[in-house]
Amino acid sequence: MSISVKDLRLSVLSEPKTRVDIWYSDPFFKELYLPLFNQYPIECHWELSPKNWKLLLRKLKPHYLILDLSVVSENPIQSLHEMKSISPGTEIIVLSHTDDVHIAISAFKAGISDYYLKPTNPETLWYALQKLISTKNLLPHDPTLQADLEMFSVTHHINIAESDYKMRELAINHLIHQTGAGGAIWLCPSSNTPRSSSSLTQTIDGTAFFVEYWGCHSSQEAQEELTSFQNKFPLLMRDSFFTHLTSHPEHWFRGDCAWIPLKNSSMGGILLFGLSGVPSELLKTRTEFLIRSLEVSLENHQRYIEAKQLTYIDDLTGLYNPRFLEQALNIAMDSLNKKNQGFCVLFIDIDKFKQVNDQYGHLVGSQMLTHIGKLIRSSLRKNDQVFRYGGDEFIAILYDTELSTAKEIAERVRKSAEARTFRFPMAHIKITLSIGIARFPDHGNNKETVISMADTAMYASKKSGRNQVIVAQPEIHG
Ligand code: GH3
Ligand code: MG
Repeated sequence: MSISVKDLRLSVLSEPKTRVDIWYSDPFFKELYLPLFNQYPIECHWELSPKNWKLLLRKLKPHYLILDLSVVSENPIQSLHEMKSISPGTEIIVLSHTDDVHIAISAFKAGISDYYLKPTNPETLWYALQKLISTKNLLPHDPTLQADLEMFSVTHHINIAESDYKMRELAINHLIHQTGAGGAIWLCPSSNTPRSSSSLTQTIDGTAFFVEYWGCHSSQEAQEELTSFQNKFPLLMRDSFFTHLTSHPEHWFRGDCAWIPLKNSSMGGILLFGLSGVPSELLKTRTEFLIRSLEVSLENHQRYIEAKQLTYIDDLTGLYNPRFLEQALNIAMDSLNKKNQGFCVLFIDIDKFKQVNDQYGHLVGSQMLTHIGKLIRSSLRKNDQVFRYGGDEFIAILYDTELSTAKEIAERVRKSAEARTFRFPMAHIKITLSIGIARFPDHGNNKETVISMADTAMYASKKSGRNQVIVAQPEIHG
């Protein structure tokens, strides 16, 4: 069936007034658009600068939102994701001053319905809006079907979300919205590192859990909810935490609480609290569907991370490879721009490594490379990164580090290599390292220069007798 523009217009006009929210910071455009929009059967609500847009969105859950991207925050794409997770049913038309296709694609991925460049011709905008309203009106006014469609839309967004945290957030916000719960807590055996401000670690019955919470005003409130949860589900605490209720799905809901364990314990489980009654069978079925989709998305995401890691990992040593160095340096420079934190690069080369190969064979040589990689890795902080740059060369990035500290750290690496005897059945081998240091931005304002400065400093160490740490100097560069 093809629908003409005329049909669309008619179907819009025949509907009762539709509310459209417009968040646009420029009063001039308000003057320009409003008279036009007022000719049509829509009710426009204009916000020039919604101060707390999250709260407003939660309160309004508008059907249609025309959004000037500059209104929401410095990170518009992140904000769009948040908007769709707060109010998945809101159709958003974005007006942006950026004609960068990547931004537009990211915005569509975040779930918007349309994207236009500012200043947008009001007729064009009206046509886009009209099309959207008509399409939505083609859907039957059946709340069950609407809810199902909304859920499909959420599962789609979970599926394309860029992080596991985002996936959980989308699913949990939708669960809260669907069940009318007061809030939710996500619990996971704590191998994870905290990724949001609303998180904490908590020991329950001797096991440490990582906890994220929604709908709690403070971590203390989240802890109180957890205690009350423990009292309601004492058996759960004594039995296997994540498997007990999986095998008894009928026990999901108890009083004003529900415990929804995910497929395996590494995915954690979701506690919903503040429920007003036992949910209907339909709601349970929808919840089950949402949870199964979340599990599949989390699994796929995990596989994706693992596959991606493989392409970034050096086969021999298990350290990062040069392909990832490129990425890591881009991220580090980006973070410098944001947080004003510099970083140091250590360029490390094994002294006279050819002799090891020549004397003990290539196999022993390769094992030595793995041991030295581990030695370097274990001498640094967790968030520093170590790369096998090639052959017997390693690079370490020390984040948010001053040159004086980097020098101490490099000395520590050098000394521990010097002190170590690598023991093999046929040989005990000793080696030393030459290390060059450069700092971004002090020694160069791009990644190539910083690496090259560190390399040159390392080479200076070789020239002056090896087994030394040398900091790059402008005069020794080139
Ligand atoms: P220098 O002190 O000047 O660095 O002397 P060197 O002998 O270490 O010289 P160089 O760094 O130029 O040589 C690196 C050697 O590392 C060359 C090659 O034999 C060896 N090598 C590179 N990759 C591998 C590998 O994957 N396994 C083994 N066993 N050896 C490797
Ligand atoms: Mg060498």
